[in-house]
Amino acid sequence: MTVELGSAARPLRAAIVGAGPSGFYAAAALLKEPVAVTVDLFERLIAPHGLVRYGVAPDHQNIKAVAKTYDRTAAEPTFRYFGNVEIGKDITHDELKQHYDVIFYTVGAQSDRRLGVPGEDLPNSLSATEFVAWYNGHPDFKDLQVDLSCEAAIVVGVGNVAMDVARILAKSVEELAETDIADHALEALAKSNIKDIYIVARRGPAQVKFTNAEIREMGHLKIADAIVLDNELRLDRASSAAIEGDTSMQKNLDYLRAYAEIGATGKPRRVHFRFLLSPVEIIGENGKIVAVKMERNELRPSVSGDIKASGTGHFETIPAGLILRSVGYKGTPLPGVPFDARNGVIPNEVGRIVSLETGKIVPGEYVAGWIKRGPTGVIGTNKPDAIESVNSMFEDLQKGKLPPAPEPDPDAIPALLKARGVRYVTQEEWKIIDAKEVADGKARGKPRVKIVEREAMLAVLG
Ligand code: NAP
Repeated sequence: MTVELGSAARPLRAAIVGAGPSGFYAAAALLKEPVAVTVDLFERLIAPHGLVRYGVAPDHQNIKAVAKTYDRTAAEPTFRYFGNVEIGKDITHDELKQHYDVIFYTVGAQSDRRLGVPGEDLPNSLSATEFVAWYNGHPDFKDLQVDLSCEAAIVVGVGNVAMDVARILAKSVEELAETDIADHALEALAKSNIKDIYIVARRGPAQVKFTNAEIREMGHLKIADAIVLDNELRLDRASSAAIEGDTSMQKNLDYLRAYAEIGATGKPRRVHFRFLLSPVEIIGENGKIVAVKMERNELRPSVSGDIKASGTGHFETIPAGLILRSVGYKGTPLPGVPFDARNGVIPNEVGRIVSLETGKIVPGEYVAGWIKRGPTGVIGTNKPDAIESVNSMFEDLQKGKLPPAPEPDPDAIPALLKARGVRYVTQEEWKIIDAKEVADGKARGKPRVKIVEREAMLAVLG
């Protein structure tokens, strides 16, 4: 007699790789399906929550509150957490296939895009991805060398990540001390000499990527003025037409216009917004960054309808000692999983992974989040995205398209990890670490004091 996959006698066994927002949203959606499902969520780091813990800015605690929803999912009896387990190293993709009926890859976009200009590899030319991970206490970035002894920093790009990193540089140590910023970063930022932060856009003010709340915040910084040059706010005809009726973009422009009007009020730091400039060279002297050479751009509508930046052959040099390129995240490949290197995503059709060699769907393998669609949208965008992928899986299950795993025994994976000496961290253990961080934070008037290093986290568990 064959036992039906998804029945009480043979629950569907799902593995999710990556415990960020899309991993938790996929888990929640799977556990809501009207079939018996068990979910094992694997995470390379000890701590779950991905970008909510290691990406969202420490002064945006309201966004981090979403972690409570993830905890509710993790409390389900058919959910297990395996932190500190790297797929591809501790367990292979083939082994997952052996033990799970379905696998969801929700690993996010862990790398960053580059500018491709001379001097990009000089010390203190960093990606915003690295800088964000450093101040958020990501264990792999604790020792990042960040020199804040210079007086000016340049942030390249005008998305919300650019706003985050600029704001962290623009805030006082007293303001940052109330957040859960990593202690090593707070210490370094307390000694910062940076007074001028330039946010540089290659296109114009009608093509910014930041959202209203983020640009609004720039006008309310305690120790920094937002500076905008009036003449850089003039819109060309194509840009005006492109944003007609776009209330969000109009609002962004209103804020920028207001900052241009107010100008400098004498606060000790300044956040300058500069438009139509592309870095062409990061200039170093004796191994240290001293300035960035920029080419002035003009905007040209392209055949695709986009408005693109094009160099004019006129240049400007901005003195600065720290460069943060905030030009977008990029996915990285996983061993044994198809990867579209051009777009930095796992190729998929509505969440079903597609083989690059055959062009066919790989049965039982799915993807959700940034590694599915690219690094766009806010945390909540990952919820419908994950639900869509889970719906595809459910459809496949109903159509009998899921080959059952040969070895579905739930004890097999913990046994395999133990045999290999992999110290995996369970949900109960994570909650002990979490409680210690929150208790330490309470004593210091902060949301939490992050434990950064793996060894220190494991030491809490004894
Ligand atoms: P993003 O929104 O895609 O912004 C990337 C920026 O980099 C754009 O301004 C882009 O300009 C610029 N850029 C790209 N290539 C460039 C180049 N070669 N030279 C100069 N500039 C270049 O990406 P992000 O800021 O990394 O954010 C990723 C996602 O996370 C976004 O969806 C964002 O909203 C979200 N996020 C949200 C929050 C929040 O809700 N508070 C916080 C952080 C991040 P072009 O437009 O000209 O390409």
